[in-house]
Amino acid sequence: MPTEHKHCQCQETQNHFLERAFESLQLENAQRELLLSAFRETTVSIPLRPHRTDDDGGELHTYTGYRVQHNHARGPFKGGLRFHQSVNMGEIRALAQLMTWKTALVNVPFGGAKGGIAVDPNQLSQYALETLTKRFVQKMGLVFGVHHDIPAPDVGTNPQVMAWILEEYSKTHGYTPAIVTGKPIELGGSAGRLEATGRGVAYLTGKIASEMALPIKDAAVVIQGFGNVGFHTAQHLAAMGARVIALSDAHNGVICETGIDIEQAHHYVTKTGWLEGLPGTESINNAELLELSCDILIPAAIEATINCDNADAIQARLVVEAANMPITHLADTTLCERGIMVVPDLLANAGGVLTSYYEWVQNLQEFPWEYDTVMLRLEQRLGQVYQQVHDLAKQGNTDLRTAAYELAIGRVNQAMALRGF
Ligand code: GLU
Repeated sequence: MPTEHKHCQCQETQNHFLERAFESLQLENAQRELLLSAFRETTVSIPLRPHRTDDDGGELHTYTGYRVQHNHARGPFKGGLRFHQSVNMGEIRALAQLMTWKTALVNVPFGGAKGGIAVDPNQLSQYALETLTKRFVQKMGLVFGVHHDIPAPDVGTNPQVMAWILEEYSKTHGYTPAIVTGKPIELGGSAGRLEATGRGVAYLTGKIASEMALPIKDAAVVIQGFGNVGFHTAQHLAAMGARVIALSDAHNGVICETGIDIEQAHHYVTKTGWLEGLPGTESINNAELLELSCDILIPAAIEATINCDNADAIQARLVVEAANMPITHLADTTLCERGIMVVPDLLANAGGVLTSYYEWVQNLQEFPWEYDTVMLRLEQRLGQVYQQVHDLAKQGNTDLRTAAYELAIGRVNQAMALRGF
């Protein structure tokens, strides 16, 4: 297999998937170019003295913040903010595009965007993180708006970060809960939003596994990543009777063939910061974890973890992309050739942005929904979207990813044409 260059994998992977769909939709070059280009890319510098609790003294550091607004043909720009040391413009650009296709696929009236700051949030005090977030909003304030661009959590951010965004934006615009989704329930967040991405992943995993005659009860599941998405996916799959045999975080993994107690693992991580040493488990590294013999493998961490170095060694029957772009295009081809079923990110993890849409609607209506209403709508919509993608894939004799891209790109292209972009 050819080698892959880590720094440009995201864009390369995205372009490759898009090209396949462009071909089958028979789009002209001008349409392709327009679909690929971003509406606006903003970069800001954020000075901060991160190691002083009062931000007065200590060493000055300048952080870089990004927001790429890819496409808004179908509605306001929508997408998460990522705080991670590896954040760069190329990655954010590719992830912003992915949001355009994801919102179109689940048919919510949003476009696509993504942003972030190149920072390791674990190295900062809460005070420094709050200051950094609020300064980011001061500088980016002009690009955000309730009907223009609505951020949300992503890797390294959480409801608390969203609360700081809400606070900073509200200073100049008045109390504006709809400016951000994934915020705490006390500030207008939606019931169920925190677990929504993982819940959606688990729901689709169960549905697709049963169609493959792979009963979810006692199925051996391996999950890479134990952040918000990984944890809630594990929690729901365990509740459905699956046996989660291995889990990992950015550091290391743990394995227990009879099944890990997910609540215990969560408590342990909250207390110690890491999975390593979880009672009743043995240690395993991230590379070994991905190659374990299992029924279902769920990459729920960052991009390109399944790549041409390990695609041949993946032993699962079903791989569900809970993370964004965890499989490079070369690895995707290998998995398909090997007959491994892959559920693509824009479908698998769309429960997050779908519930963000429900949150935004509740904020605009100033009328919160019950938890059960949110969950019912989440599962119903994901089930319908999966059926559409499945039928299209069958009809075109293609894979779920290509069908999902075709459906999404077709919708965006149509909206652009109608609006005369
Ligand atoms: N960051 C999540 C994603 O990649 C959620 C985005 C949102 O809710 O706007 O889908």
